[in-house]
Amino acid sequence: MEELLQKLIIKNRELTQKGEVASYIPALAKANPQNLGICVTDLDGNIYKAGDYDKKFTLQSISKTISLMLALMDNGEEKVFERVGMEPTGDPFNSIVKLETIRPSKPLNPMINAGAIAVTSMIKGENADEKFERLLNLFRKITGNKELEIDSEIYLSEKKTGDRNRAMAYFMRDVGIIEGNVEEILDVYFRQCSIKVDCIDIAKIGLFLANKGVVPDTKEKITTEHIARVVKTFMVTCGMYNASGEFAIKVGIPAKSGVGGGILGVVPHKMGIGVYGPALDKKGNSIGGYGVLRDLSNELNLSIF
Ligand code: GLN
Repeated sequence: MEELLQKLIIKNRELTQKGEVASYIPALAKANPQNLGICVTDLDGNIYKAGDYDKKFTLQSISKTISLMLALMDNGEEKVFERVGMEPTGDPFNSIVKLETIRPSKPLNPMINAGAIAVTSMIKGENADEKFERLLNLFRKITGNKELEIDSEIYLSEKKTGDRNRAMAYFMRDVGIIEGNVEEILDVYFRQCSIKVDCIDIAKIGLFLANKGVVPDTKEKITTEHIARVVKTFMVTCGMYNASGEFAIKVGIPAKSGVGGGILGVVPHKMGIGVYGPALDKKGNSIGGYGVLRDLSNELNLSIF
């Protein structure tokens, strides 16, 4: 398996030249565009790694999977989906336009920024610190990595420049989708996006979802099978932003990408996959990571369809 992974990294590293690292969050622009790594873990306890699997990057939108899980656990499905929809969008992840044009006003799904900010606003806790700690603890339990922390440089960089997210959040409070202190909600959102991980951590998140909400190493049941299924379904329909349809055809596994260059992949009942390659394609997905996942899925026949 590691030989295959190595081969796929070498092949797809060429693709990274065609992509660009994200720069709208200035600190993300420091990443090395040539990096490409992968980790695959399976339910037999194997961990396979290749390339730059140990390079650190930030979760960014990958965090939206677990924040959704926590909001569902805290509030129940009915309340969450009163405020955020279940439909994919053909728009970019940070698009603002449909917030006003769709009636009643509600972000289309929890994987785009507006929807994820609404989801984060529903996480329970006395204040921003407590809400974030609850989320961070979940990530630590799921990955088995007690050292997970935020990358302060990237967190501060996004907090300073995140005016589009700020605009969406204030708009959503105006129309009653979110309640409370907008800056505090955004602070939790910016922190969740800045959690620093590597491919092994991401693969473990994937394996936890593949294992229906139970952490395989500790046997701890973190969430219900149903909530794990809801999260995986959103990954299929909305996880790769406005490339989700194409990704479902070419790769065919539930996946969630982030502008930090990570992609979380789940092969239900079998595997968790973490890939990293900060050079992104036009839609904000890791260009090399996408290639590696496509080839791996073809080689091992992983498509769920
Ligand atoms: N923190 C990023 C943002 O809100 C996350 C976006 C992403 O990974 N697509 O813009």
